[in-house]
Formats: sequence, structure tokens, C-alpha cells
Amino acid sequence: MNKTFKSLVPMALAAVAAAAGAQDFPGSKPITLIVPFAAGGPTDRVARDLAEAMRKPLGGVTVVVDNAAGAGGSIGANKVAKAPADGHTLLVHHIGMATMPTLVRNIPFKVESDFEYLGLINDVPMTLIGKPSLPAGNFKELTAWINANKGKINLGNAGVGSASHLCGMLFQNAIGVDMTAVPYKGTAPAMTDLIGGQIDLMCDQTTNTTSQIEGKKVKAFAVSSPKRLMTPALKDLPTLQESGLKDFNVSIFHGLYAPKGTPAPVLKKLNDALKAALKDPDFIKKQEGLGAVVVADRRSDPAEHKKFVAAEIAKWSPLIKAANVYVD
Ligand code: ASP
Repeated sequence: MNKTFKSLVPMALAAVAAAAGAQDFPGSKPITLIVPFAAGGPTDRVARDLAEAMRKPLGGVTVVVDNAAGAGGSIGANKVAKAPADGHTLLVHHIGMATMPTLVRNIPFKVESDFEYLGLINDVPMTLIGKPSLPAGNFKELTAWINANKGKINLGNAGVGSASHLCGMLFQNAIGVDMTAVPYKGTAPAMTDLIGGQIDLMCDQTTNTTSQIEGKKVKAFAVSSPKRLMTPALKDLPTLQESGLKDFNVSIFHGLYAPKGTPAPVLKKLNDALKAALKDPDFIKKQEGLGAVVVADRRSDPAEHKKFVAAEIAKWSPLIKAANVYVD
């Protein structure tokens, strides 16, 4: 056997094995959804609901959630970027995919070229919330309290590059007051400390805050969307825009990603399963009850998802730079 032929044989065999694997996908091997934040938080919640909804369209295969939390979401995203491209390790991530490249320099992966885009899952507004003992009952009283306590206020977030970090930075910038950032591995542990009064304020997705607002465990001051929300527990909250923060508009999207190079037939099966989940009435009901809007437009198509994230990068990059809220 000549040398070139010899080295081509294993490559050809690997390609045949990959094609056969793609045809049988997912087989009986579980699929892992990596969540780059702590368990019990908003990204984790959407991933767990999605895992349940995707199981049936994937032939009943086990779909598990693995929390690879830390560094504002970049640890989990990097884990998926470097995982085998066989469709068994996927990433559920949020707006950080679009803001992190500008918010944080030197992330160890490339958002645009290290992933296959499988489709968007939902859009979720954020809420500005405070510890229960905070002596302010509305946004006006909150700003008076902030101004009276400059230099002493702690603001929780899920690390540099997270959605809560972005929202908190933009909020501080808009009101012109600096606060001390307290980073957590996700906003679930941050929420525990907010309820306990160890931190003062947080900005987080409604999927994590709705039940705490409803149960009066935290104080709620405003929503980050340009329109008020319909969810019963949130419908009386003013928007940050109507509270005087002109143009404040942060909406968090969650999407599904696979490592770059995942075979096309596997991507097709995963996208079909995602689309089936997005039409699942149980999934829609659970998400809507928490203020999230399940994607019902073309952004559940991989190409549209990719275009959308590219547009979000282009939208956020100048805003983050102008607000001077990026981190070296
Ligand atoms: N809500 C978090 C964030 O601020 C992440 C999480 O815990 O899901 O990015």
C-alpha cells in the first residue's frame, strides 16, 4: 500500500462512520444541553423545559442539562465550542453570545465561527429588582435612595459578560451612579442573596424574577422592555423608558448551538426537534407564565438565527462602546 493511500484509509473510514452515525442519530446515547450558568436560574430553566420538550421529537432519547457555570457564561460556551461535533453536546445560551465579544475581550472561542446555529428559543425581558428591606416602593423612590447611598450599593450579576451584567452596567450608566458589582455563577445564587439582603439590586430575566415578585420576596421597580408586560404579576411595572431612562431597551434571547462541524443530517434532526418543542403547548405555557415569548418566527431557522445574532452583535457593539461599559 503506498503512503498516501495508507493515510487516506482511516480518514475515509472515519467519514463513513460519521455518516452512518448521523443517519442513526441520536441513537440511544443521551444528549447534553450545556447551560453556562448555575442551576435554577433563567437560562437553566429554559434549558430544562426545552430538554423535556425535545425528548419526544428525538425519539425518546434522554436529554440532560449540565451546568458548566462561571466567567459570565464563557466557560460553558467554550466547553461546547471544543466538544465533539456529533450532536450529543449542545449549548443553550442567551444574549451573551452577541454582547460578550464586545463586553469582554479575549474570550477563548469565536461566536461566529466555532458554532453551528440551531435556532432561537425565546425572547425574555428583564426586571430591575431590589432586596425586600429596600426602603423604596417605586422607581422614583429607588433613584432617591440610590442617590442618597452612592458608594454603598451592591449590584448582583452573573459575571462579566452576562445579561445581568449588561443590564446593570447600562442602568448605572443611564442614571450616572457607579455601584459595586457582585458576581455569581448565575442569577439563581444571586437571587438567594438578594432575598437575604446580602446584595441590594439586580437586573434579571422575568423567567427568574416573576415568582419572586409575585411572592413579594423581592421588590420590583421596572421592566427593561419598551412596552409593559402582560404577565399578571408584572403588568403594573413601569418600563425603564417611561421611568425616564430614554431608549433603555434590553431583551434577552436564548438560542441553541452545536459545535462547528456537526454533520448536516444531525443538525437537521436537532432543528426539527427544536421546532417541534417551540410548538409544544406545554412548553409555550410554561414559558409564557414566566414572561417569556417563545419564538414563532423564522429565527428558529439556523440561517435566520445566525443572521439575527450577527445583527445583535452589530447593534450592541457601538452601544456598549459608547456607554463605556466593556471590560478589559
Ligand atoms: N440571568 C443570568 C444572566 O444574567 C444567567 C443565568 O443565571 O441564567 O446572564
